[in-house]
Amino acid sequence: MIWRCDLAAQYLAYRAEIDGAIAGVLQSGLYTLGENVAKFEAEFAAYLGVKHAVGLNSGTDALMLSLWALGVRRGDEVITTPFTAIPTYSAITHVGATAIFVDIDPATFLMDLKHVAAAVTERTRAVIPVHLFGSVVDIDALRAVVGPRVSVIEDAAQAHGARWRDRRCGSIGDMACFSFYPAKNLGAYGDAGIITTSDAQAVERIRQLRNYGERRKYEHVVKGVNSRLDALQAAFLMLKLQHLDDWNAAGARHAETYRVELDGVGDLTLPAVAPGATHVYHLFVVRTQRRDALRSHLDGRGVHTRIHYPTPIHLQEAYRELGLGQGAFPNAEALARETLSLPMYPELTTEQLAGVTDAIKEFFATG
Ligand SMILES: *Cc1c(COP(=O)(O)O)cnc(C)c1O
Repeated sequence: MIWRCDLAAQYLAYRAEIDGAIAGVLQSGLYTLGENVAKFEAEFAAYLGVKHAVGLNSGTDALMLSLWALGVRRGDEVITTPFTAIPTYSAITHVGATAIFVDIDPATFLMDLKHVAAAVTERTRAVIPVHLFGSVVDIDALRAVVGPRVSVIEDAAQAHGARWRDRRCGSIGDMACFSFYPAKNLGAYGDAGIITTSDAQAVERIRQLRNYGERRKYEHVVKGVNSRLDALQAAFLMLKLQHLDDWNAAGARHAETYRVELDGVGDLTLPAVAPGATHVYHLFVVRTQRRDALRSHLDGRGVHTRIHYPTPIHLQEAYRELGLGQGAFPNAEALARETLSLPMYPELTTEQLAGVTDAIKEFFATG
């Protein structure tokens, strides 16, 4: 089987370092926050070119705490897209704010800036552009559209290392949220996340919010939660950060192979990359009107794929109260029917890539 993503391959390649990190943390006696977390926060901030980073226990919490730290609350509006992972949206609802969806650009899968201007009202407090699949939203153009009053929070959960010209995603907006869920470009061995920003005041609040609202031990100055980053995860992430650029480069080579092999095959549309953007291929997502048939053909040939995402958020059962039915966001709905995520992870071999592209060509040649 050629998996969409095989995480064990990476562990096996760095087994000695990773096992050493586990022993180091367990012997230290410090398992939440502490020195490893502080070091990783500093290294990740330096990697992005941003002043601060605050380690948390998931990307979902990163989104929630960033809204919270900015004071976004009931009655406020936050603009995002319905074609993203569910946490982008659920974070907005959990702080009590109202999400205002705008449709995506069908070529890039990203928030269509044309629709954003019309969505801004006097209640808009923030906009959450999603660097979906490792592709990059033009944050400067977005900022020009929403104006200085609206905070820009990058959802960079799929874009570790991605760049817009010479700046990294996560350093361009007012704040950014990353997930280190195992399958992300930089993944922990469990759940973890981080907020990055150069806003010193917000950082102070986020540090309090993640740790029971404490300023000092047992001195609670805000109503917080427990969203601390584990020392073990921080130690793994520090090790893995050193390899991130190489892994992303491997992903870019795989993407180039897909482009060369799949260009003009059937009705496939390959992912568009905006000039100025460095895509990091968290996912390699193709589009075809024969998606479901292609998927079962590939499955029969031992090629595992996934669909990101089969149902746009406004059509999910949990959010029926939005009252937005079929047809509300035509581009998002069409992509939900037509996109397929091909195998993509750094350790994919030339033979595996050929296995994927041969099976796809076979499908379109015979179908
Ligand atoms: C993974 C992801 C998140 C949430 O991260 P978790 O660590 O799983 O909570 C948020 N937004 C996007 C776009 C994601 O892909």
